[in-house]
Amino acid sequence: MNTKEKDLQYIMHTYGRYDVALKSGKGVVAYDEDGKRYLDVSSGIGVNSLGYCDDGWLQAITAQAGTIQHMSNYFYSKQASDLAETLCKLTGLAKVCFGNSGAEANECAIKIARKYSFDRYGADRNVIITLQNSFHGRTVTTLSATGQDVFHNYFFPFTEGFKYAEPNNLDDFKNHIDESVCAVMLEVVQGEGGVNILDKDYVQTVAALCEKNDILLIVDEVQTGVGRTGKLFAHEHYGIKPDLMTVAKGLGGGLPIGVCLCGDKLKDVMSPSTHGTTFGANPVVCAGANYVLSRVANDAFLDEVEAKGAYLEKKLLALDGVKSVNRLGLMVGIEIDGDAHDIAAKCVANGLLIITAKDLLRMLPPLIITTDELDEAVSILEKTLKEN
Ligand SMILES: *Cc1c(COP(=O)(O)O)cnc(C)c1O
Repeated sequence: MNTKEKDLQYIMHTYGRYDVALKSGKGVVAYDEDGKRYLDVSSGIGVNSLGYCDDGWLQAITAQAGTIQHMSNYFYSKQASDLAETLCKLTGLAKVCFGNSGAEANECAIKIARKYSFDRYGADRNVIITLQNSFHGRTVTTLSATGQDVFHNYFFPFTEGFKYAEPNNLDDFKNHIDESVCAVMLEVVQGEGGVNILDKDYVQTVAALCEKNDILLIVDEVQTGVGRTGKLFAHEHYGIKPDLMTVAKGLGGGLPIGVCLCGDKLKDVMSPSTHGTTFGANPVVCAGANYVLSRVANDAFLDEVEAKGAYLEKKLLALDGVKSVNRLGLMVGIEIDGDAHDIAAKCVANGLLIITAKDLLRMLPPLIITTDELDEAVSILEKTLKEN
């Protein structure tokens, strides 16, 4: 059996796949098992922030794998404590808790928010407001947190205590606030929801109302974090400071990591055995993340992300068949004439690895992509739209 046949026989069919078996990659370019070349503007859903097999990143993780590949959380780890220090210094937040994925980071944030409220106000103040059209993960609780009815099926009973407010509607938000609410959780740019950029006024007012009522503000930066939007974290565009922030996808540069960060007020909420995970804070993964931050966390790099995003947006808007573009940095949703899923599959066949979000084409290119590579990506998309 070939790769595709084995996959179809032995892997549960939880994903509809493009008809490609990827084998290797370097930078923005990937190759399939037949040696065909692809330009990748999806980065494994915003994960390969430095592209495929970046030299420095590879050096960092292989050196660590040859030194100590894993230790339990019962021991101190230099890679983990260095990463925690860097993240706290870069964000002004106080402490981190490590996990392995975005959903897990969000679970951790939800637990911290509820325990803070439990310790202060008792068990009944436990409701978390999230936004309609949000996406927070695939565990039973983060499915509950996700404000889309399509995700609230099959797996009953779901975790209780979530309410969904309409994005950018302050009256609706205020109507959801009562004495049962302990936290608000939102993506400032809804990624899976279609690169939906929340209004600045809305986010600032929500943050202010949270602060006033001792309601914790959880910002899910799983997709928007680590330079994706042209700031290190997307909430910086809004001038707000979250109580809790979750980071995952792009942080490890291709290795699984999820981090929940909290501000000063929450730094002592969790105590031994209130949370944990075997693989969290893995030193190889942390070495990868330390390297990614050493490259991404500087103004020159981040300014380039925004400049390349603006360049891409302009070129996209000039194409026939492109109706509009939602974009912040290199997080790009493209509204087109025609079916986005169909066009995406045709782009892949034409050598451009691109994904979708709702009815939009979506690009999350490696942050190191060059303008020449962006030109090539746009010309493959142009050709594909013309064929359609
Ligand atoms: C991808 C994503 C998640 C889930 O992350 P996993 O690593 O797949 O568990 C959560 N929140 C947002 C905003 C995401 O984009």
